[in-house]
Amino acid sequence: MLYKDLVRVYEALESTSSRLEMTDILAELFRSSDCAHIRRIVYLTQGALVPDFYPEKLGLADKLYLRTLSMATGAKESEIRQLWAHEGDPGIVTEKAFESKRQTTLFSSPLTLDRVYDSLLKIARSEGSGSQEVKMRLLADMLHDATPVEGRYLARIATGRMRLGVATQTVLDSLVQAFASKADKPAAERAFNVTSDLGLVGEVLCQEGLEGLERLHVIVGNPLRAMLAERLPSPEEILERMGGRAMFEYKYDGLRVQAHIDGDRVKLYSRRLEDLTGGFPDVVKALSAAFRGKSAILEGECVPVDINTGELLPFQEVSHRRGRKHGITTAMEDYPVRVHLFDCLYLDGEDLTCLPLPDRRTALTRCIRVSEDVRFSEAKVLDNVHDVEEFFTEALTAGCEGLMAKSINGDSVYRAGARGFLWIKYKREYRSEMTDTVDLVVVGAFHGRGKRGGLYGALLMATYNSETDRFETVSKLGSGFDDATLAALPEKLDRYRLPQKHPRVDSRMNADVWFEPAVVLEVLGAELSLSPIHTCAFGKVREDAGLAIRFPRFTGVFRDDKEPRDTTSSQELLSMYEGQRKK
Ligand code: ATP
Repeated sequence: MLYKDLVRVYEALESTSSRLEMTDILAELFRSSDCAHIRRIVYLTQGALVPDFYPEKLGLADKLYLRTLSMATGAKESEIRQLWAHEGDPGIVTEKAFESKRQTTLFSSPLTLDRVYDSLLKIARSEGSGSQEVKMRLLADMLHDATPVEGRYLARIATGRMRLGVATQTVLDSLVQAFASKADKPAAERAFNVTSDLGLVGEVLCQEGLEGLERLHVIVGNPLRAMLAERLPSPEEILERMGGRAMFEYKYDGLRVQAHIDGDRVKLYSRRLEDLTGGFPDVVKALSAAFRGKSAILEGECVPVDINTGELLPFQEVSHRRGRKHGITTAMEDYPVRVHLFDCLYLDGEDLTCLPLPDRRTALTRCIRVSEDVRFSEAKVLDNVHDVEEFFTEALTAGCEGLMAKSINGDSVYRAGARGFLWIKYKREYRSEMTDTVDLVVVGAFHGRGKRGGLYGALLMATYNSETDRFETVSKLGSGFDDATLAALPEKLDRYRLPQKHPRVDSRMNADVWFEPAVVLEVLGAELSLSPIHTCAFGKVREDAGLAIRFPRFTGVFRDDKEPRDTTSSQELLSMYEGQRKK
């Protein structure tokens, strides 16, 4: 196929904004093309060379392109720069530069689709020293043989600015129109949603029609488009919608990951199908060790954890790990993560997406041996509002955003790329922002781990309840300590050490070491939330929960001037919580 035939179609596509017309134009192109070319046409039309989750990306730097164009046309770089500033589109610049300055070429051969595709792929793949020259030469060679209008599209695709305005759905519709019937659209959509490769869907449709599509299953190495959830405001409505019973899971606030495991190779993909593998070698290693099978596709949420308090941290902490190329080892230490797996979409040769959730969950539990870093999402099958509310509070305490309710009925398949009521999210704001510091008293401590081995890793902090004259726990504090403070803590605290919990401390948590309430620290938290584990103002907001400070940080100030009874009172914290919630 000649590149000019494709370019003619691009021009036609650019001259219309009607989706139907675009579909017709593309369908005609697909129908008249050789099946062996369909994949390449699909990718190029979308301004790419491969599906999104592959590493090869186009996007030559503007400066480099400018030099290449000058090389290919003989026009001065300064002239091209001026034209570029005026036109703002490298495509038009190239076309104009060609028309006015074209060097006379004695030997030029017409561009074919394959040559353009192969050269662009080489450009995308070349890296390291000398790669700039390679890229320039490959592109200049093509430009040398291109007509002005071909030059326009070469420039756009090479610099990553194809933007024909053709949506993925339009390409899919035209493939169906070319090779199948309207009734086959759901099958084509499913094939795309499970493989995320429109080129592959096109090729299979062209070669084998609907039958081929139906044989297309999930592929290890091709991320599936994520199944998404609807939202409902109350457990009553959720249970009603689910038929009275559902599986409820903690809704973790992290990064969704899809793990593709093939022997000892593990790849991780984000919800947007980006390859995350490079940034998470620890997750790769942990999954490899936990997996007992040959190959699988698993889904879970990657959450940041404080290894000393065991608490989940804010989502931002995991986002530091994303897309990193350098300093990964340090990032792994600074922002440790854990994966909570919740689904199994493929296992040892079997596509599980059409099985109901309970079967997928069984497959998941069979193929994973849980460890410190790889766990399952906390899940319970529940059928009444009270239990759901209780589980919801538990989830909030654990640092989660709420619950995910999932259908466990016979039709609870994994619907890739779709948002529907098979999954319903239940989040409710039971948190209030903290804007002021509080003074809390140390009542216990936990032994440190990792870098904090041999020291205290976290302290159990309490407020003072002036009505009952007791100390009530409100958080585990592990952040904000510099190395020197951390090292000095045992000396400061150990003189108050007790063999068991102080009689006036109310705690539902078991500390490794107990102290007499004496040392007061200034603390700033991100927010206040409900917690069945902490005893501060227990039962005041909800019968089964107290208040907790989330993401607490030591400000560096020891309030040695304060008596333990002068610490922030439980009553004060309660009014802070209520005051902020009202706002
Ligand atoms: P959406 O994903 O619905 O478009 P969003 O990105 O804002 O919206 P949320 O609405 O907060 O995310 O919730 C959906 C996300 O919750 C999932 O994409 C997944 O990353 C995350 N999640 C956490 N825990 C679970 C779980 N147990 N099961 C499924 N998803 C979970």
